[in-house]
Amino acid sequence: MIQTQTGAARQSRIHTAHGPVDTPAFMPVGTAGTVKAVPQDILENLGSENLGAQIILGNTYHLYLRPGHELVRKMGGLHKFMSWNRALLTDSGGFQVFSLSELRKVKEEGVSFRSHLDGTSHLFTPERSMEIQIALGADIVMAFDECTEHPAERERARASMEMTLRWAKRSKDYFEAHKHECPWADWGNEGSPKSPESRVIAEIGKNLRTLRPEPPTTPALFGIVQGGMYADLRRESAERTVELDFPGYAIGGLSVGESRPKTMEMIAAVLEILPKDKPRYVMGVGYPEEIVQYAAMGVDMMDCVLPTRAARHGLLFTSEGRINIKNARYAEDQGPPDPKCACRVCNRYTRAYLRHLFVSAEPLAGVLNTVHNLAFYLDTMRSVRHAITLGDLSGILSGHVSLT
Ligand SMILES: [Zn+2]
Repeated sequence: MIQTQTGAARQSRIHTAHGPVDTPAFMPVGTAGTVKAVPQDILENLGSENLGAQIILGNTYHLYLRPGHELVRKMGGLHKFMSWNRALLTDSGGFQVFSLSELRKVKEEGVSFRSHLDGTSHLFTPERSMEIQIALGADIVMAFDECTEHPAERERARASMEMTLRWAKRSKDYFEAHKHECPWADWGNEGSPKSPESRVIAEIGKNLRTLRPEPPTTPALFGIVQGGMYADLRRESAERTVELDFPGYAIGGLSVGESRPKTMEMIAAVLEILPKDKPRYVMGVGYPEEIVQYAAMGVDMMDCVLPTRAARHGLLFTSEGRINIKNARYAEDQGPPDPKCACRVCNRYTRAYLRHLFVSAEPLAGVLNTVHNLAFYLDTMRSVRHAITLGDLSGILSGHVSLT
């Protein structure tokens, strides 16, 4: 899969049935079938021409509760329902139900929980999570895992990791038996000698200009490494998850309150074990400087609600650092939100206007702030990919080169 490698960092391309994903990639989070406040066409066209988001996330927990996965299936799957013809990844629902600490109960079978919307009782099992994700029809489906709480004693972290491994096997068994039921799966290709998973990933070292691999005909299931904040448990989890043989691997259970050096230590421990020719995805990170750092370490995919959530609170990420747009000092500031950003917001509006929208609680404030923040994150990853192909990440890592 690797096209270019600079040190540990890799630049590559993941092929899905809904188009390519250039990596390292940042994936905007589209919780309930929408990246909050941003219409799909703007997501596609973010930043420079034809360089928009190639993949976004959907949240299984939210879509299951509302509008319901069966409704989405009836509407032709999530791609069709939300009119998004590029790649989609769904999480397993595990992280959301674990964060409902008061409303959930974890057993070997799965997690029972009560809806935050109406208090009704539900049960997520590995099989149920697969069934829902297949109905939604994401290109990349995540195994059902337990996000170990932090802090956790070693024995507790081990027990949780063991359960995640058992759930990974159950997820895979159900997924393999039912993946052709996804709304866009190509039944006609069943029995093809090439495994669909192998076609998710481009082959090593081939020239992208001449190589156009056949798109996969079913979704791909990624395994998730857990193990709390214990490097040896993380390594063991990685080894045993790899034994189950997934087409890609995620590192879960991070950004749960640990220090940043600890996050990096855990990622480094796992990356040593994960196969070099498969995508590696760190879930739920992070700040712009973090995603650059992790990409430099060899991470291919990341997602985080930070740029979208922070935007709705008036926090903008810029080449000059973070700015809080509601601050009075921007009341008469005629400059763009970020002088080095070429996004449609920075090209057109002033900080003074964005501040006015925000303090007046105008809905457009959330839209414009989110568009800029996502442009900043996606541009950052474009710069990282470019630096990897040039063979020098030192400038971008030291911050001497603009991230935009
Ligand atoms: Zn901008």
